[in-house]
Amino acid sequence: MKADRLKHLGIINSPSLSKVAEELCCDTQAKACMYRECLSCKNKSLTQTTSTGIAGTEATWWYQWLTKKEDYEKEKDGKRQKITVTKTVKQRCEGSPEHLLEDFEREMKAKVCKHLFNIHHQYTQLQFLHRSLKEEEAILHIDYAENWQCKYAKEVQQVHFGASHRQTTLHNAVVYTTDCTLTFCALSPSMKHDPPAIWAQLEPVLQFLKENHPRIQKLFFISDGPTMQYRGKKNFYLLSTIPFQMGFTAVNWSFLEAGHGKGPADGVGATMKRTADSQVARGTDIPTAKALYDTLLPLTKVKLLYVEEDQINRVSTLLPKELTTIKGTLSIHQVVCTTPGIIHYRVLSCFCSREVICPCFLPSSTNIAPQVQPGRDVRTSEPTAQEDVSHATSSSGCEGTLCPVDDITEDLVGKWCVITYDDDPYPGIIEDIEEGALEVNVMHNIGRNRFYWPRLEDKIWYTVDKVVTLIPPPEDVTQRHVQINPRVFTAVWEKINL
Ligand SMILES: [Zn+2]
Ligand SMILES: [Zn+2]
Repeated sequence: MKADRLKHLGIINSPSLSKVAEELCCDTQAKACMYRECLSCKNKSLTQTTSTGIAGTEATWWYQWLTKKEDYEKEKDGKRQKITVTKTVKQRCEGSPEHLLEDFEREMKAKVCKHLFNIHHQYTQLQFLHRSLKEEEAILHIDYAENWQCKYAKEVQQVHFGASHRQTTLHNAVVYTTDCTLTFCALSPSMKHDPPAIWAQLEPVLQFLKENHPRIQKLFFISDGPTMQYRGKKNFYLLSTIPFQMGFTAVNWSFLEAGHGKGPADGVGATMKRTADSQVARGTDIPTAKALYDTLLPLTKVKLLYVEEDQINRVSTLLPKELTTIKGTLSIHQVVCTTPGIIHYRVLSCFCSREVICPCFLPSSTNIAPQVQPGRDVRTSEPTAQEDVSHATSSSGCEGTLCPVDDITEDLVGKWCVITYDDDPYPGIIEDIEEGALEVNVMHNIGRNRFYWPRLEDKIWYTVDKVVTLIPPPEDVTQRHVQINPRVFTAVWEKINL
């Protein structure tokens, strides 16, 4: 949008971001240029390339996307309820054209160029893999579809499902081998989307390959979307153990850059949901995940799998307590494993050599579970959510009363933090992470340093600068209300209001 405005003002020649990248780089196909590491173009600036001088021009305006939280009241069961929703809104900003151009250039250099390069690179590599696929290799393109809300054909007025309305999780996989394409859809009543859930859903897919396509030895996973769950140490551990126990000899996992569009796995989920909806329209009740499975089974060629909560819990027990945290997890785009427990990882995917890991993009390697001997059976221990939370402040090397987040790693998921919103502090639990942002499920306040869980979950993404500190779990004051440790609260208050 900034680009559109700059084009309109005649400051840049094209609003296309790739075209702008061309002006900033010697070569948009070169990683060094697009990662802003190339010495010849690193300092290139848009202001040099714009033909007309813009200094002294009148103030202008442009649109910018912003995430906003809005409260509104809703009538439900005869009661008025406050509901908080987040919206991404287009906001009008004003400033000088110079300011707009500077802002735009900063964004291009800090993020956009790299992102454009990653999208293109990952896509090109994936095409190469498809074209050069060998007999013993299979590509598994996987993704979660949005949950499907279970439904009755005639929803009885008195029966209010509301939030308790059961949902079904759908995890899809499209598998490509040299001679066929197979589609799988795993249905589960469990709402979990964590690595144990992913692997409970993948195991039957791998089992199917073992039984029906025994020549497949090497697995190439491609995961869509920015989901952190695929890109963390728990998934790295499971991918470097489970397939090997099943007899596969190599695992390779590539992450597509966020926002590159819908993948093939997404199509599978959409078809399943459409089929289910049309059955409900014809009078079939589908109140549970199992009912959804039974309904779809005779109607589809997609291989349906039903995954119980128990199967997910069993996979959770495989995770050792100590796993190696990898710095910069969010910039990893490929993980390769040929020895159980040892992973190689790098910023971009490369498939030029599959016999040995190629030196392209300088791969690093690590023993993902140092306590467990590579190749051996694993210790079983199940870290509970409680334990995870209690480590909240001990592991992040914080000094003093506040413990700000300085590196976004998977370790943060499950921890308590305080975010600010409109200059007020709110405690909450971090549920997911992304580059520069955290998804936090926050409590609401009722007076100074008194908080409670709202009836409707208030979970949104916050940029990292909104996270003031990590905290230990709040203390109970009454049965429903909690407080942040008073010393910490005072420090938070001072920090926000300074
Ligand atoms: Zn360059
Ligand atoms: Zn290579």
